[in-house]
Amino acid sequence: MLRVTLIVNGREVEPHEMAQAFANPMEAAAFTAVRDSIGNRLADVRCPNHDEAPRITVSGSSVTDLSWSIEGCCATLVEEAKRALGD
Ligand SMILES: [Zn+2]
Repeated sequence: MLRVTLIVNGREVEPHEMAQAFANPMEAAAFTAVRDSIGNRLADVRCPNHDEAPRITVSGSSVTDLSWSIEGCCATLVEEAKRALGD
């Protein structure tokens, strides 16, 4: 299972914590949509050499101010994941 780590204002927010983590339900929904969207786009990405899934970290203070980093077993997987995300 692909793991998307979400870090908001320096704190990791687990999927089941979304409702508690945001005072504004719209913001919780927006972050959930971003997490799901990235997860869906990367769901089929596996390293052709090592059969590993990428690890994604999304961080920022709001959905309009997000950056993400991609880690993987090797450069090939990172490139595949970047391509899937449309970078
Ligand atoms: Zn690899």
